Amino acid sequence: MKKLELHWQILIGMLFGILFGFAMTYPEWGPQFVQDWISPFGTIFVKLLKLIAIPLILASLIKGISDLQDISKFKNIGLRTIAIYIVTTVIAITIGLILVNLMKPGDGISEDTITKLTETYATDSGVTSKLEEANRQKDSGPLQFLVDMVPDNAFRAVSDNSLMLQVIFFTIFLGISMLLIGEKAARPLKEFFDSLNEVVLKMVDLIMLTAPIAVFALLANVVVSSGDPDLLYALLKYSGVVVLGLMLMIVFYSLVVSVFVKYNPIKFLSKISPAQLLAFSTSSSAATLPVTMERVEEHIGVDKEVSSFVLPVGATINMDGTSLYQGVAAVFISQALGFDLTLGGQLTIILTALLASIGSAAVPGAGMVMLVIVLESIGFPPDKLAIGLALIFAVDRPLDMLRTVVNVTGDAMVSMLVAKSVGKLGEPVEKKWNDHLDEVTHK
Ligand code: ASP
Repeated sequence: MKKLELHWQILIGMLFGILFGFAMTYPEWGPQFVQDWISPFGTIFVKLLKLIAIPLILASLIKGISDLQDISKFKNIGLRTIAIYIVTTVIAITIGLILVNLMKPGDGISEDTITKLTETYATDSGVTSKLEEANRQKDSGPLQFLVDMVPDNAFRAVSDNSLMLQVIFFTIFLGISMLLIGEKAARPLKEFFDSLNEVVLKMVDLIMLTAPIAVFALLANVVVSSGDPDLLYALLKYSGVVVLGLMLMIVFYSLVVSVFVKYNPIKFLSKISPAQLLAFSTSSSAATLPVTMERVEEHIGVDKEVSSFVLPVGATINMDGTSLYQGVAAVFISQALGFDLTLGGQLTIILTALLASIGSAAVPGAGMVMLVIVLESIGFPPDKLAIGLALIFAVDRPLDMLRTVVNVTGDAMVSMLVAKSVGKLGEPVEKKWNDHLDEVTHK
């Protein structure tokens, strides 16, 4: 019997997880059972993925840079990547703003719903912790993000997953210095990292063997811990606008892949689908990163020199789905609470949602923390912030799952675009390997 492809296995795991989660909402002991006995398997899986994220970034970025043999090439890739990231994010926010202004999901929302949502969530620890976190982030100066990017202790940076940009900074610095000392002197270090890179990719393969069971556990847990269905329903129109915007982004990526990369978009989506399904199940671009890298390199054929830089940087700073959602949510909250938003306010949203998505960590729910900063930038009354967040809190998790899919897809698309533009999009490794086998067996 032919083995079912990985993305089908994951999809089946997800479906069973959702069904099981729903079934478990009926018996009184159900939710607790899922939390105690099912959810840990999902948590272990996410921990394993996070465990290999930092070694993977280190090894693959160093391999990528030291293979370049020339610093100007790296500059070229770097500048292109950042420029494309900014453009796609601005496009995403603009799509979100156009949709939310056309469809006005906040205008129809009844007083009754607003009161119910506020009563349920405004004092919820989820909302208050987001506000507190936002306040902490806001207290810093405009250049703080640059300061934060530079580590003062390399070992501390690699020992903390939330310091991914510091690791990237350190690794690029190390990689460039390796280029400068010349091939001979750098060879031992290069061989070490090359080998580490292969080992870590094998670890990704092994972890992915358990993905179908893990997503079952993750989704069952999401279902049993989601909120009141009535309140979810009240936010259907708002969620619809976000989902429509996210879908348009996928169409946009497909167009870019087809027109500029000359690659079949259906094939693109099917090759990266395991990464998308994991993004959906984990709500974290950072946890998905090892799989995104493996898919793009080994199944699409993006050269490591490109993917090893574009993807880790993208996972932390390029969040098209998040920025689109922040734009829609900011306008929705303003509409629902009767806060007048001028054209200038909407332009401000474009700028701050761009910065906020760069600043959002690649973990579940981070987009909502930075939404507070977007709202404050348009002069939203601070005393109403908790109410604003309470309004959208009920549907934040499902929307987070979907926007993370777009975040990850966007990164993969940009890696292909950059690779194509510098002539680094080749045959996938799996194919090369098969060809090699053919050659061997035909001899
Ligand atoms: N969960 C998202 C990510 O990891 C960030 C967010 O929008 O909350 O990409």
